[in-house]
Amino acid sequence: MPVGTYSAGGAFSFYPTKNLGALGDGGAVITNDPAIADRVRRLRNGGQTDRYVHADAGVNSRLDDLQAAVLRARLPLLPHWTARRRALAAKYRRWLAGSIHPLKERDGGHVYHLFVVRSSERAALRTHLRASGIETLIHYPVPLPDQPAFASFTRSDCAVAARVAAEILSLPLHPRLTDAQVERICSAVDLFQKGKILA
Ligand SMILES: *Cc1c(COP(=O)(O)O)cnc(C)c1O
Repeated sequence: MPVGTYSAGGAFSFYPTKNLGALGDGGAVITNDPAIADRVRRLRNGGQTDRYVHADAGVNSRLDDLQAAVLRARLPLLPHWTARRRALAAKYRRWLAGSIHPLKERDGGHVYHLFVVRSSERAALRTHLRASGIETLIHYPVPLPDQPAFASFTRSDCAVAARVAAEILSLPLHPRLTDAQVERICSAVDLFQKGKILA
């Protein structure tokens, strides 16, 4: 069942790097509750009920028409992109299973926004991959309790995040990556792992 459909509501980001991305910022809330729908519609438009009448202190969060048009054209392609992401992730998973611990697939419907692995030598692995022309990113390097905004929480409130934050690494994943590119990335990881054994 698609996410966002088994609760009262769901929130989606259409940030350009997302599985369904706009050309700029955008997002949506979905709900099957008319009262929530009314409230969210109002909040995104400054909390207005009528022109210049603000029932709530809302925000300016209207999705502009241009972004909506792009998203509407892209939406029908999403299942195809998801299938492609899953196929590439399966390839990574098969190839890398014995080496850099791809995170477990807990749900057969996983849409692979990212492909995250763990390495206790992340910095060296990143440097090695960068030297082979392969960009990697870290999602995310700073656990929430370490953010100034969430200073009231402690690291033990997010024990797993605290433990893995120094090890996680996102390998390239995008529906337009080719099988050959994923194979080249896996080979580069293998080379790093072999170098480690020899070192
Ligand atoms: C999703 C995402 C954002 C934006 O998220 P919003 O919920 O749309 O604000 C920003 N940066 C990265 C790397 C993201 O993946």
